[in-house]
Amino acid sequence: MKNIILLAPPAAGKGTQSKLICDTYNFIHISTGDLLREEVKKETSLGLELKAKMETGKLIEDSIVIDLLKNKLEECKNSDGFIYDGFPRNIKQAELLDEILRENNSKIDEVIYLDLDYETAKNRIVGRCSCTKCGEVYNTLIDMQKPKKDGICDKCNSSLYKRNDDNEETFKTRFEVYEKETKPLIKYYENIVKKVDSTKDTNMVFEDIKSILGEPK
Ligand code: AMP
Repeated sequence: MKNIILLAPPAAGKGTQSKLICDTYNFIHISTGDLLREEVKKETSLGLELKAKMETGKLIEDSIVIDLLKNKLEECKNSDGFIYDGFPRNIKQAELLDEILRENNSKIDEVIYLDLDYETAKNRIVGRCSCTKCGEVYNTLIDMQKPKKDGICDKCNSSLYKRNDDNEETFKTRFEVYEKETKPLIKYYENIVKKVDSTKDTNMVFEDIKSILGEPK
């Protein structure tokens, strides 16, 4: 079983690349952001608390994220591998992940760092919207990535939505949090991390990722 971490600033394409990797390699996509958004949708008191904090762009407490992660790993324990998208987000989470994997006689196989500068990330975030049904991602500010019909998914005709945290103010906080909390993980994983230039288009980035992961089985 493989464990692959995607380490990246907001808007570097973690979600899109995770999907491509999962389709090609038959891995399970673990996005802690998605797990948290599922909690928010349930509208429990925890969900409401999470919503308010996520809208500011700050990180959620490690213990909450780790519980959600453990549940997901338990649900999917017979998988060929996992792509961790948006996790770990800080050194503490990285240490806890090491511990969880050690208990399961497993380890991290690859850490892929999707490198992206602040300005490119900002433009990607401010125009980003996604399909409510299939998750396809669009960008209303980038010609090549606009949906054919405003607000409608080209692939499945469902409506598009904009994440509450995809605005300029929250982006600024998210990028600052990334620089302070998450970027130090490059040093933490210095022996295995591999850098990919994420300013390139989706397919080129995926080719670079495939050259790191090797041929699918
Ligand atoms: P993402 O979908 O990965 O961009 O995450 C959206 C938001 O969810 C972040 O800005 C955080 O508020 C929260 N979040 C996602 N993953 C984590 C994590 N591993 N630790 C703490 N907060 C997280």
